[in-house]
Amino acid sequence: MLIDTHAHINFPDFEEDRTEIIRDCLNKDIWMINVGTNYQSSAEVVALSGLSPFGVYAAVGIHPENLDQEYFNSEQYERLIFSEQGEKNKKIVALGEIGLDYWRKPKTKKQAAAFKERQKNLFLEQLAFALSLDLPVIIHCRKAHQDLLAILEAFKSNGSFQGVIHCFTGDWSVAQRYLAMGFYLGFNGIIFKMGLGETIRKMPLDRMLVETDCPFLIPPQAEQDDKEKRNDPRYLKYIVETIAAERKAKFETIAGITTNNAKTLFKLAK
Ligand SMILES: [Zn+2]
Repeated sequence: MLIDTHAHINFPDFEEDRTEIIRDCLNKDIWMINVGTNYQSSAEVVALSGLSPFGVYAAVGIHPENLDQEYFNSEQYERLIFSEQGEKNKKIVALGEIGLDYWRKPKTKKQAAAFKERQKNLFLEQLAFALSLDLPVIIHCRKAHQDLLAILEAFKSNGSFQGVIHCFTGDWSVAQRYLAMGFYLGFNGIIFKMGLGETIRKMPLDRMLVETDCPFLIPPQAEQDDKEKRNDPRYLKYIVETIAAERKAKFETIAGITTNNAKTLFKLAK
């Protein structure tokens, strides 16, 4: 069994065969957490989680790239998470993806500073919301590890965080700081583009998660299987295979541990 802890099966890339892919994954014992990136896609992933009594879960939140389109309206998200009777939807297992993304920052210093400030505020609002609901967080971070670490280290006073740094791209010294705060690290196809071997070899396995970030980041081994070069949760095996080789461990060992980790962090029940 495998659990893809970061998928976007709701994206238009899957318009024509979304339900078939989800069914095929469930038949193959591959579970998935689909992650929202704004209010609309959050509502979509929640709807998709209703397709099966187990195995398809949702995370809701605003990705930092979408901060120009909307602000965080906690009441709107509460209505998504709770029924009118006040019951929490058990398929919504995290807040995410939230975080910092400085990849496309404005050119002038002043504009870049304001842009970062707005991202930090949006992130902090959602982080506080997640903590108030006792939901783990799925954190996106691109080109912003130092700012993210500073925010989290200032915020952590009440014990360790429940959450994952998804698509981890830092080096081993950065990894250790997230691990010290209680975070899990999520690995996907970016491991074929960036040298993450040291972290993969040295980190405790009980904090490792695997993910696809599909439709993005298709592993090279899957490119020949997929004409459209579109990633999906069935290619997660190539991530597990590569991590197993790096750790000199069996595929089944890495699959078993990462599956357990996902069930523990996101409290996934069958
Ligand atoms: Zn994503």
